Amino acid sequence: MPFTTRFAPSPTGPLHLGHAYSAILAHDMARAAGGRFLLRIEDIDQSRARPEWEAHIHDDLRWLGLSWEEPVLRQSDRLSAYRAMLEDLWAREAIYACTCTRKDILEAASAPQEGVPMGPDGVIYPGTCRGNRSDHGRRPIPEDAALRLDMTRAATDAVSFIEAGVGPQGETGRIAVTSTQLIQNIGDVVLARRDMGTSYHLSVVLDDAAQGVTHVIRGQDLFEATAIHVVLQNLLGLPVPIYHHHRLIRDAQGKRLAKRDDARSILKYRQEGATPEDVRRMVGLTP
Ligand code: GLU
Repeated sequence: MPFTTRFAPSPTGPLHLGHAYSAILAHDMARAAGGRFLLRIEDIDQSRARPEWEAHIHDDLRWLGLSWEEPVLRQSDRLSAYRAMLEDLWAREAIYACTCTRKDILEAASAPQEGVPMGPDGVIYPGTCRGNRSDHGRRPIPEDAALRLDMTRAATDAVSFIEAGVGPQGETGRIAVTSTQLIQNIGDVVLARRDMGTSYHLSVVLDDAAQGVTHVIRGQDLFEATAIHVVLQNLLGLPVPIYHHHRLIRDAQGKRLAKRDDARSILKYRQEGATPEDVRRMVGLTP
C-alpha cells in the first residue's frame, strides 16, 4: 500500500498557522515518500460547518502550494456509511443508548474529594445508562439518544500503535494502550451524538480506513484521542495506521492557536502580502 496521508480540517473557521504547519508537513512527507496526499473535509457538525470556510480551505492550501487528489471526501456525504457501522455495533451490543444530559453526567461523575474525572473527550462518563440494555441489540436504535461505546467490552490489552512522531510527553515508538487505561481514563465515549448521528472518533476511523490512510499526521492535541481510534480499529477489524503527532504552533504567550485566532489566519497573512515561503518560515519548516 503506498504511503497515504491526509489533512482533515473542519470548515468551522479560518485556517491558522497550526493548520498550515500540519498540512504542509503531511503534504511534504507524502511527496518525499512518493505517496498520496488527501484532503478531507470534516463537516459532520452541520451547526458549525460553513461552505465559505470550506472554500477558504481550498484557496489557502492551493496558495500554500499544496496539491491533493480529487475528489475531496466530505464527511457529510458519508453519513450512511457511519450509520451502517452503528447498526452493526448496535446489533453486536458494543454500543448502547444514552439519554443523560450534561448536567446528569456532571452530577453522577463528581466525586466529593477528587472532583470530576476528565478524559480526552471531557468528563469520563460514569456509566449511568450502560445498564439499560436488556436484549437491546434486537430492538431498533432509539432516535433520541446518544450512542456510547461500551468500553468495558471493547477494551483489550492487545491494542497498540506506532508513534512515528512524538506525543506531548515525549511518547514515541510502539505505544501500548492498556484496558485499564481505556476503561479508567477514557471510558464510554460517544460514537454518535444525538444531533449529528455520528462523532469525530467514529468518522475519522472509518474514513481513514476507507481512504487507505497509512500515516495519520496531525497535532499532538489529538494524541490522547488516538487510544480511542485504535480501540475502535480493533473492534471494527480495521488496519491501524502509523501515527505521527507533531508539535503545536503556539502564540507568543505559548498558547496553542485556535480557530478564533483570526490574527494568525492564513487569509490575513495572505492579505497582508506574506508569501507561502514566509508561512513556512513562521512555522519553522524552513530556516
Ligand atoms: N478534524 C480534526 C481537526 O480539525 C482533525 C482530525 C484528525 O486529523 O484526525 O482538528
